[in-house]
Amino acid sequence: MDLNEVVSGLQIQLITYLDAITKQDNFEPAGILYLGLVDHIVQEKKNLSEQEIQQKIRKNFKMQGLILADVTVVKMMDNQLEQGDSDVVPAGLVKDGSLSKKSNVASKEEFEILQKSVQNKIKEISSEILKGNIAIKPYSHQTRTGCDYCKYKAICMFNPNMKGNEYDYIKHKKNEEIWNDITK
Ligand code: SF4
Repeated sequence: MDLNEVVSGLQIQLITYLDAITKQDNFEPAGILYLGLVDHIVQEKKNLSEQEIQQKIRKNFKMQGLILADVTVVKMMDNQLEQGDSDVVPAGLVKDGSLSKKSNVASKEEFEILQKSVQNKIKEISSEILKGNIAIKPYSHQTRTGCDYCKYKAICMFNPNMKGNEYDYIKHKKNEEIWNDITK
């Protein structure tokens, strides 16, 4: 999960759901996960055993997101995980049974900080809308822009090469930098 997109307000859906459910029922977060549903058919030139097919299916359905930094929770999400990267969730275990450095995890406190940061972002966006700010300013983040899949390109007249047309550039930061920013 790209935290740049979460804190800039582009990817706030899952954190917002998490925020709503944890408040309503006093639950604690275990993670926010999603997976792409495009083209999950296993294609191979050779015959595969049932086990190999299952392995490939699991790999294709590997979820993205952020999980609570808790080995028990990670193992409940992938009950076959013993060591190495999980095929199911964005986490892994090292030899001594702890979470690998590559794992995409956050503590309960970090989830709370992220929830607060997204709440503030929603307030900020709402306030801009109420002020009547409807400027055409699609985001631009690394290689992607808000216009990439837009059907209205031909009629909206937005052209970043023209004076007065400008993207809302999102400065890419490393996760550690983002955590530092939002915990200030
Ligand atoms: S092409 Fe135009 S309407 Fe579509 S996202 Fe970009 S600025 Fe908005």
